Amino acid sequence: MSLTTHEENGLVYFTSPLLDACGGVAHGFSTRKGGVSKPPYNTMNLAPNRGGDRPAVEENYRRFCGAVGIDMHRVVLANQVHQTTVLQVTRERAGMGLWRERDYTADALVTNEQNLPLVVFSADCGIILLYDPAANCTGAVHAGWRGCAAGILEKAVRELERLYGARAERILAAIGPCIGPCCFETDGDVPQAMTESLGADAAPYLENRGAKWYVDLAGLNRQWLLRAGVRPEHIDVSGLCTCCRTDLFWSYRKVGGQRGAQVAMISLR
Ligand SMILES: [Zn+2]
Repeated sequence: MSLTTHEENGLVYFTSPLLDACGGVAHGFSTRKGGVSKPPYNTMNLAPNRGGDRPAVEENYRRFCGAVGIDMHRVVLANQVHQTTVLQVTRERAGMGLWRERDYTADALVTNEQNLPLVVFSADCGIILLYDPAANCTGAVHAGWRGCAAGILEKAVRELERLYGARAERILAAIGPCIGPCCFETDGDVPQAMTESLGADAAPYLENRGAKWYVDLAGLNRQWLLRAGVRPEHIDVSGLCTCCRTDLFWSYRKVGGQRGAQVAMISLR
């Protein structure tokens, strides 16, 4: 299923029907809409370290976290480096990345502790939320093409199983907005990396046109979830392209480095 759109007082965000139906987690995917940051960070910039006005970022967290029902003072922010580290987050790290310095780099965060919100960032890259309602554990994953090709999603699922007794066939997953196959034009390096790791399973998501390729990153991330054992009926996908919809999202490809970022956030109740 696709994600549900919420609009409250100018704030626009998305949630996963699968996660909403469970009730065990608060979560959301942010957009540019509903914050107070000034251009080029207008308006809902949730990246505290990209430049932009610090008080505005804090106000944006207050608004977004308030809307989705998450404690802004305890958020734990990923420190993304396009690798495959999956960090086991414990309460000692509450607030890191927003209120305190991070002492880690990690593109994926997992936890089984309540009220310990996990946050990952995107401006074209894939952001994915995971939840096993029976084992009561969550994950937030940043999967750009490098992380995708390196199998970060499968690794995150395996870590949820190993650390918390999750089982892939119970895990619910929500794939947020990312750059779509309409806009993700690449050279041969991206298809090659995907094919090296996924084999023939990558082919349906790679379209060749002349010297260029068009890559379906959300489709590839979904394929990794299936490979990890997540059931197809347990995966929601946004389907929106961050590069087409710059009214709603930041896109690295469209606007470069001077920009804010949208997030995916999840917290056990
Ligand atoms: Zn597009």
